[in-house]
Amino acid sequence: MDDPFISCPYNSTHRVPRSRIQAHLVKCQEKCPALYICPFNATHRGTENEIKEHVKDCPTRLAMFPDQRPPQVTGDLTTPKPYMQADYLPETDPNHEVWDD
Ligand SMILES: [Zn+2]
Ligand SMILES: [Zn+2]
Repeated sequence: MDDPFISCPYNSTHRVPRSRIQAHLVKCQEKCPALYICPFNATHRGTENEIKEHVKDCPTRLAMFPDQRPPQVTGDLTTPKPYMQADYLPETDPNHEVWDD
């Protein structure tokens, strides 16, 4: 049936049938330290020390901010800092509405 093996996010060498990943994660979570997530790319994960080292030469960071120094890595890495906020502003004035009457 359609039950492909997927990689465990805690350890990519763990290949688990998708139908069993939930149960596997519960067990794996107990054995593995909580993973820190790279602020630049949520698929980059590792221990606190690994991520602290990783952000210094994260390929995603270097692609996005080639001149920027790495950020201070603090406790919560799951919330990326809004570096790109200005880029996400809508191009048109959000208060400018077209009234169709
Ligand atoms: Zn696992
Ligand atoms: Zn990264």
